[in-house]
Amino acid sequence: MEPAKPEEPTTQAATEVKAEVEDEVTPFNIAAASDSGIDYDKLVDKFGCSRMTDELREKIERLTGRAPHRFIRRNIFFCHRDLDIILNRYEQNQLFYLYTGRGPSAEALHLGHTIPFIMTRYMQEAFDVPLVIQITDDEKFMYRPELSQEQVAKMAISNIKDIIAFGFDPEKTFIFLDTEYIKELYPNVTKVQKAVTLNQIKGVFGFNDSDPVGKYAYPPIQAVPSFCNSFPHIFGSRKNVPSLIPCAIDQDPYFRMTRDVAARLKYEKTGTFYSTFFPGLEGMKGKMSSSSLHNTILLTDSAADVKKKINKYAFSGGGATEQEQREKGANLDVDMPYQYLRFFLEDDAELAQIAEDYSTGKMLTGQIKQKLIEVLSTYLKEFQERRKAITDEDVKKFMEVRKINPVPKKFEEAR
Ligand code: ATP
Repeated sequence: MEPAKPEEPTTQAATEVKAEVEDEVTPFNIAAASDSGIDYDKLVDKFGCSRMTDELREKIERLTGRAPHRFIRRNIFFCHRDLDIILNRYEQNQLFYLYTGRGPSAEALHLGHTIPFIMTRYMQEAFDVPLVIQITDDEKFMYRPELSQEQVAKMAISNIKDIIAFGFDPEKTFIFLDTEYIKELYPNVTKVQKAVTLNQIKGVFGFNDSDPVGKYAYPPIQAVPSFCNSFPHIFGSRKNVPSLIPCAIDQDPYFRMTRDVAARLKYEKTGTFYSTFFPGLEGMKGKMSSSSLHNTILLTDSAADVKKKINKYAFSGGGATEQEQREKGANLDVDMPYQYLRFFLEDDAELAQIAEDYSTGKMLTGQIKQKLIEVLSTYLKEFQERRKAITDEDVKKFMEVRKINPVPKKFEEAR
């Protein structure tokens, strides 16, 4: 049994949601106090989430009949809200769906953006459930003063092609732009807007009186795709299908608010499944972000770009000289090549061997960097081949408001 969860702090200021060590984790900024990164253990307690457990990992394996994804095996997806409840429901052949999203703020995604999509793709395949993907063109227009609506619209289409290239099931995936699908969302948006006060939004997100009013209006729009009646073409008249949101933990303020409102509106509370951040090349202090380009690896980068960036910028926890590395070994906690391999190298035994060899000085910094260059170049090459094949027709297909069967095949067979 896990300990009881603390009350969900719906009015806690995002700016105040700092772990005691002064880490800052908000939807708008990530800054670790220590060079070894965010103290996620403290953050779980601060936010009032539940830790991932071996019991849940085993349950996922049992329910899906396959080994959990490496992100789950390695505790990269490290905490949740009500994942246990959703898995219990699934065990009893009760539906759930996946909800994730993307704010189109740049033409190309970076490796940090891939984390929720890789996880969501795995979960869709493993559980055979529908998925809705919100493209928050309204949000990025509102939050980025330098962007025009035309620029955001162009980036949105490019991002949607990237997203499709992750391999989502076209029969079970609905991608929508907020500005296009708003008519269907609006009844729920107004319910949420009526249930949440200005003070609450200010408290949760830290906005001030000079911020555009659209910033205050936006969080309800990110909340409502978690209510199944926002998608009648998928769920028909069903009222009780909960969603599960795989994303990084910086999105928690949105979904704390969402869960609080859901209870008041008598909707199912959304579940969430949170990852740690994929760090920037320069170290564990922040997440990889579009706002710091030399610190990122883009999905459009060539093998030569990857090689150059890793050799030049990736922070090393290895010894300063070959001799020092051989004598003392590397500090894996702050070493970017090792940390990136934790995310992208599939083979657990190989990763463990690298950890052993590199931390004891048997492996050199140049060698682990070379390994990472190979792993990422292969990943990006395969991604870019899939991306090249995505057409405007594919975009239309994924975005069409069409009937989608929400029932996993194994539930239908069990009937
Ligand atoms: P950026 O500032 O780089 O554009 P963002 O957070 O604005 O990033 P969004 O498109 O709004 O990007 O976020 C989509 C999802 O990607 C969210 O769940 C967010 O937490 C996640 N995400 C973004 N960057 C990272 C990262 N470096 N590591 C893990 N998840 C990330």
